[in-house]
Amino acid sequence: MYILALDQGTTSSRAIVFDSLGNIISVAQKEFPQIFPKPGWVEHNPWDIWNSQKEVMIEAVYKSGIPLKEISAIGVTNQRETTIVWDRETGEPIYNAIVWQCRRTADYCEKLKKEGLSELIKEKTGLVIDAYFSGPKIKWILDNIPNARRKAEEGKLLFGTVDTWLIWNLTGGKVHVTDYSNASRTMLFNLKTLDWDDELLEIMNIPRVMMPKVLPSSYVYGTCHIIDNFEIPISGDAGDQQAALFGQCGFEEGIVKNTYGTGCFILLNAGKNIKYSSQGLITTIAYGLGDEIYYALEGSVFIAGAVIQWLRDNLGIIKNSSESEILAKSVDDNGGVFFVPAFVGLGAPHWDMFARGLIIGITRGTQKEHIIRAALEAIAYQTQDVLELMSEETGIKIRELRVDGGASANNFLMQFQSDISNIRVIRPLITETTSLGAAFLAGLGVGLWESTGELKHLWREEKVFEPCLSEEKRGELLKKWKEAVRRAKNWE
Ligand code: ADP
Repeated sequence: MYILALDQGTTSSRAIVFDSLGNIISVAQKEFPQIFPKPGWVEHNPWDIWNSQKEVMIEAVYKSGIPLKEISAIGVTNQRETTIVWDRETGEPIYNAIVWQCRRTADYCEKLKKEGLSELIKEKTGLVIDAYFSGPKIKWILDNIPNARRKAEEGKLLFGTVDTWLIWNLTGGKVHVTDYSNASRTMLFNLKTLDWDDELLEIMNIPRVMMPKVLPSSYVYGTCHIIDNFEIPISGDAGDQQAALFGQCGFEEGIVKNTYGTGCFILLNAGKNIKYSSQGLITTIAYGLGDEIYYALEGSVFIAGAVIQWLRDNLGIIKNSSESEILAKSVDDNGGVFFVPAFVGLGAPHWDMFARGLIIGITRGTQKEHIIRAALEAIAYQTQDVLELMSEETGIKIRELRVDGGASANNFLMQFQSDISNIRVIRPLITETTSLGAAFLAGLGVGLWESTGELKHLWREEKVFEPCLSEEKRGELLKKWKEAVRRAKNWE
């Protein structure tokens, strides 16, 4: 039997067919347009999201050559926080999707902070007030689209994150649901009551009737008839980063995954009890299975793989990203060069929006290879800063890091991560962990797999990186890095 995973991302929609051993049988992918109406604003047309997803879903199934009756289930994973409001009767969105990156609600978020709501919101939702999250985006739509609030109050409008929008369309407008992991990104969901929070709905002036029903991440939400009228259950749903943790088999407290893409997304399975961070990590729901909820702590690095793109596109000192590995290995060390890629400020644990990029330690002997090496090392140092904070705040000793994302292909980077963090770094055979996570959840939902224990046997390591740096050297390097960060701070 097989599972069809739908991965609706920020720039493209993908679909992957997996077999019951977790092997990839076929992949289809399609980009769709990004809409930038004003500086700092980002939108998608919800129909572009749906149509591209539908196309790749059908393409992946045909490419696989597998008869439809052997596809047991569909799992959905999605760009998180992106907000869509549509008409319950016609299914027509009343505005474009407001994408997670969109900053239009930044002023409103500042206002919430000034009103002293940070603690309340953190306590209830686990989140730091920020324009990323869905609640303020819903409010913006209701405030700015004619008649929207009245219609919403009359129960004529529905809100959904992208998973909700996809499941609605997959089921022909019959099912209006989301899962715990996506709900926990709205700034409206109470982590303790596991329900939409009336006080927050009131603060943001959002009628409860438009909110989807929140269900476990593995659950038969409905059936899809889109492909040749064949009925396939939809039985998995999780936000992309949480799906990646699940696809990495991060089922136990203390397991950490890092996705090395444009930025880094680091998630620690924090177990069944809510853990809060005092230094800007986010508390989120990793997933809900049956009546069990697993929480996660999340930290991110703004500029990771992007620093390698910068070396290629802005400095022109590498031809492609994989060349960075060869050149970094061609020198014995960083030659004393440290690179703090604070192009857009620094996130956890530094939280300095005014920090800017810095390359320090340059001498007459510095070669471009040293700068390239320092750039790769910076990705690992920034990750280490988040890991250290996670350890500190939870008291959990992190023993290994499971990796995925484009830059996890870089062996130099992975070895340096292992050395500087003094942990095992494990790269799995299937690095499509986001889709795999959605497939795992869907397969559990229809009983293709019995338990997470069974899934653990499917997850295979491709390469393990063991730390081999002396404690003394490690200490020296970390000290230099911290000093470089200090000098990059508060520049703008
Ligand atoms: P995203 O999903 O954020 O677009 P991907 O997971 O596709 O990111 O990874 C792309 C990023 O990884 C780019 O920023 C690129 O510079 C970086 N990258 C890809 N391959 C390598 C490599 N071999 N070494 C270092 N960085 C790499």
